[in-house]
Formats: sequence, structure tokens, C-alpha cells
Amino acid sequence: MNCKICKTKNIKKEALVNLPSYNLSLCKEHFIEWFERRVQSTIKEFHMFTKEDKILVAVSGGKDSLGLWFVLNKLGYRVDGLHIDLGINEYSEKSRKYTEEFAEKIGRNLYIVDLRNEIAPIPVIKEKIFNKPACSLCGTIKRYYMNKIAKEKGYNILATGHNLDDETSVLFGNTLNWNMEYLSRQYPVLMELENTFIRKVKPYCRITEKESAIYVFLMKIKYIEEECPLSKGALSLKYKKILGDIEEQFPGTKIRFFNNFLKKIYPLLINKKEDKIKKCKICNEPSASEICSVCNLKLKLQNL
Ligand SMILES: [Zn+2]
Ligand SMILES: [Zn+2]
Repeated sequence: MNCKICKTKNIKKEALVNLPSYNLSLCKEHFIEWFERRVQSTIKEFHMFTKEDKILVAVSGGKDSLGLWFVLNKLGYRVDGLHIDLGINEYSEKSRKYTEEFAEKIGRNLYIVDLRNEIAPIPVIKEKIFNKPACSLCGTIKRYYMNKIAKEKGYNILATGHNLDDETSVLFGNTLNWNMEYLSRQYPVLMELENTFIRKVKPYCRITEKESAIYVFLMKIKYIEEECPLSKGALSLKYKKILGDIEEQFPGTKIRFFNNFLKKIYPLLINKKEDKIKKCKICNEPSASEICSVCNLKLKLQNL
């Protein structure tokens, strides 16, 4: 198949990437252009941030977060990185190494939070307190530190590398259970709340995992390819697989599911009243109850 864009210029060039969801085949050069323009237009459409903002991107060392950091930097945004070292043996060591090397390469600041110094490594917390998949625990801890560090270091935007596959698998789960509260918060931008929450954005929400992988490959970015060893059996991964099968039979399903949710359903949910947010008595970070979940974890571990 030939590149569709080249064809409009009367050039015959073999396509490198085939995107059946968009009925589009592109050469290397035009894929990169398409990809970067798509990220840029998502930022614009959802009014995520501008060149004036100070952005902190949460980087795990995987393809999505490193690719996002790279593309935002390339597009001219002021963006530094935050890595949370979860202390999951070689998996975390490798993730941290790739992140540090990458920060060096693009010459941007990188902050590191090491859970060993803050609470305890994830496997220890999981073993002592939790007996279910570690992902929800991990998500809570990550959100806490991302918000806290961004405020402390003077950033006003927090960006994460959640891609279309992540968003649709969560959306799928929340829809199967009609979890209205989660659905009402599933938007690519969560607005800031003064002195409490930093604005959170997902510039990759319309980029699939496959597109993200092709981009970092073409940009020669080294990243950790393994999935987190503790995520095995996670429901979100099963939903991803199911949606992947549907997508293969009916290309374009995922992006349509997501776009139509934002267009048709989300507007019906946003008038729901926000719960009143308290501040944690111990650390003063936002919390749904008197003591936040991270301080709660620390207390539990101390009392074991
Ligand atoms: Zn082309
Ligand atoms: Zn707290």
C-alpha cells in the first residue's frame, strides 16, 4: 500500500504504517507528522495547556510516558518529569534507569520519589496489607505523590501518558457496572482546585497503544517493554484484550466508543455535585476522609 498523503502530492511511496481505524496508510515521515499533529490538536481541543504553563509529566519508563515527554518537549512546551520508584525489584530498577537516561538525553529536570523512603516498596505494602491486585493501591499512591510534588515544585499542570486503550478499557469497565461516579470523572482534563488539586491532563487520550509504540520506535526511544509483574490478572488488562479483539473485527470501534462517550454521555454527567473535599489531618493533602489513604497506609504499616 502507498502513503495516502504522498499520493496527494503525486508521489508514490510505500506506506510504513497502516491505520485501519482511520482508513489511512502513511510513510514514516507522514506518520510522525500525523502523530504529532494529533497530540497537538488534542491539547488544543480540550484546552489542556499552553506554552506559558509549567508542566510536569509522570514518567514510568514505559513507551507512553517517555513518548509523551518527548513529543511535548519537541512541540515546544515547558515540561519536566516525575518518576515514582515503586521498589518492584528489577522491574523498577530498569524503569528508573530508562527514565533517568532519557531525562539526560533531552536535558530536562527529573524528580524522583522513592517509595522505599516514603512508605515502603509496593511488594511489601501489598504483602502486609493487601491481598488483591496491586494496581489500585499503586494508582492511589501515584496520584498522591504526583499532585503533591507538582505543587511543591511549582508546576501547574500534571500530564500522564494514558492512551486510548487505557481510557477505553476503564470506560468499558465503568460502563459495564454503570459506575456513574467514575464515569463523571472520566474526562481528558480534570480541572484544578486552588491549593488542592493540580490540573490533570491526558494528551495521549486519542493515541492507541500501537500508535504510541510505533512513534517511540521511530524516534529511537529506549523504554521498558515488560508489563509490571504485579499487574498480572488485572481486570483492566482483560478488558483491553476484549476491546482489542472487537477492534480487530470492527476497526474504529475504540475511538468511536471514546469520542461518543465524551460527546453524548459525559455532558449529562457533569452537573453532578462534587463531594466536599477535606484536607488530611496529618499531611494536609486533599482527602475524602479525615486521614488520607497514603497516611492511612503509613499508619497501618507502623502498627504491624
Ligand atoms: Zn508519505
Ligand atoms: Zn495524609
